Amino acid sequence: MTFTVPQQRHLVTELPGPRSRALQERRERSVSRGAGTLANIYMDHGSGAILVDVDGNRLIDLGCGIGVTTIGHAHPEIAAAASEQASKLTHTLFTVTPYENYVRVAEKLAEITPGDFEKHSILVNSGAEAVENAVKIARKYTGRRAIVALDHAFHGRTNLTMQMTYRPWPERAGMGPFPGEIYSVPVSYPFRDGLSGEEAAERTIDYIRTHIGATEVAAFFVEPIQGDGGIVIPAPGFFQRIAEFCAENGIVFVADEIQAGIARTGTWYSIEHHPGVVPDLVTSAKGIAGGFPLAAVTGRAEIMDAVQPGGIGGTFGGNPVSTAAALAVFDLIEREDLLGEARRVERALQARIGDWADRFDVVGEVRGKGAMFGVELVKPGTRTPNPEALQAVLTHATTNGVIALDAGSWDSVLRIMPSVVISEELIDDAASVLEEALERL
Ligand SMILES: *Cc1c(COP(=O)(O)O)cnc(C)c1O
Repeated sequence: MTFTVPQQRHLVTELPGPRSRALQERRERSVSRGAGTLANIYMDHGSGAILVDVDGNRLIDLGCGIGVTTIGHAHPEIAAAASEQASKLTHTLFTVTPYENYVRVAEKLAEITPGDFEKHSILVNSGAEAVENAVKIARKYTGRRAIVALDHAFHGRTNLTMQMTYRPWPERAGMGPFPGEIYSVPVSYPFRDGLSGEEAAERTIDYIRTHIGATEVAAFFVEPIQGDGGIVIPAPGFFQRIAEFCAENGIVFVADEIQAGIARTGTWYSIEHHPGVVPDLVTSAKGIAGGFPLAAVTGRAEIMDAVQPGGIGGTFGGNPVSTAAALAVFDLIEREDLLGEARRVERALQARIGDWADRFDVVGEVRGKGAMFGVELVKPGTRTPNPEALQAVLTHATTNGVIALDAGSWDSVLRIMPSVVISEELIDDAASVLEEALERL
C-alpha cells in the first residue's frame, strides 16, 4: 500500500495548534454544544493511520472516527470509486427507480455474513437506522413486541435506539419520553462477573423468563464485541447458549456488527469468533464504505421479507455513491487480505500492550480482537472503574499527537481501534505515548 502522507507522528505546534483554536472559537458560536468533541484538533487530510491537522501536525489515529476508516484514511481507490460514481449518477432513490450498485452490495452482504441460507438486505444511512429497521422487521415477522438488549450495549441515538442503549448519561438523560417494550438484560463480562459463558447465559435467560417472558420477545440484540460499552467480549459459550435459547423460543437473534463487523476483528463479522453461532439478522455500518454513510440489515430471507413493500426504506438509503464506495471497500478487503492485516494488528498490539495489566497498577485488563482493543482502567488494587485515569491518559495522548477513544459504562476503558494498515512502528510509538501517561498516574 502506498500512502500520500508519511506514516510517522510529527508535531510542529502545540496541540491544539493556533488554527485549531481559531476554528474552535468559531465552532462555539455556531455548533450545538450537544455535539461534544473528544479533542478539539481540526483535521485537514489523512492517509493510512495518520491524520494531518490544520496546523500541519501529523497525528496517529487509534480511533478511525469510531471504527469507520478501517481500511485507512482517504484511500485512493475509495476516492476514485466514489468520484466516478458521483459524476455518473448521485441519486434516483432505489425505491423509485433502482440501480445495480445497491443490488451488488446486497449480493456481497449475503455472501460475507454468517449462515448458509438465502439472505436479503435493506440499505439505510446510519447504524441507528439499521437497528431501528431490524426492530421493525423482527416485530413484523414474529408479531411480538418486546425487544431485548444487553447491559452495556450501544445501539444508537434515535428515540428507539437510545432506549436500547444501556447508559442514561450522556446518551439519554432528559430526552424522553422513551419507547416501551425495550428491556436490558445481563451480559457476560468476564472481568467483572467472573462467570463462564454458560453460567452468564443462564443468568440472562433466567432474567428474561422472570421479567419479560420468552414468548413475548420479538428480537434479542447483541454486539458480539461491545464497542462503546468498553470492548466487552462475552465468555466462550455465552452466545452459543443465547442463540439456542432464541431458536427454541422463536426469537429473532440479531448481531449488531456496526462497530465490530467488516474486517475490524480479523473476520468479516465478529460473531465468527463464537463458532457455530449464526444470527438471524446482522446489522452493518461504520466500516462498510470507508466513511461514506451507509448501513445495512442483512438476514434470513423469510424474516427480511415479512415487511410489506413500502414498510421500510428511506430517501438516501443505499445511495449510489455510498454503495460504490462500499463495493470498493469489499474489493480492497479481499484483494489486500485486510482480514489478515487485522490479525497482524492484533498480534502487534498483544505483543506491545498485552502485559500492561502486569506493569501498571491502574490497568485492570487488556483485551481485544483484531484491531479492536480495550484497556480497562481501575483504582489500583481493585476493580473499581477509574474514569479520572482515563481522562488523564486521553489528555496526554491527544496533546502528544495520538488520538485514542474512551469507552465503557463508567468511562474507564481506553479504546484502541486503528486502521488495519497501521504499521508496527506506529503501534510502538503510540504505545510509548500511552505508557508515558500510565507511568505518570
Ligand atoms: C455506532 C453504533 C451504532 C449507531 O450507529 P450510527 O451510525 O452512529 O447511528 C449502533 N450500534 C453499534 C454497535 C455502534 O457501534
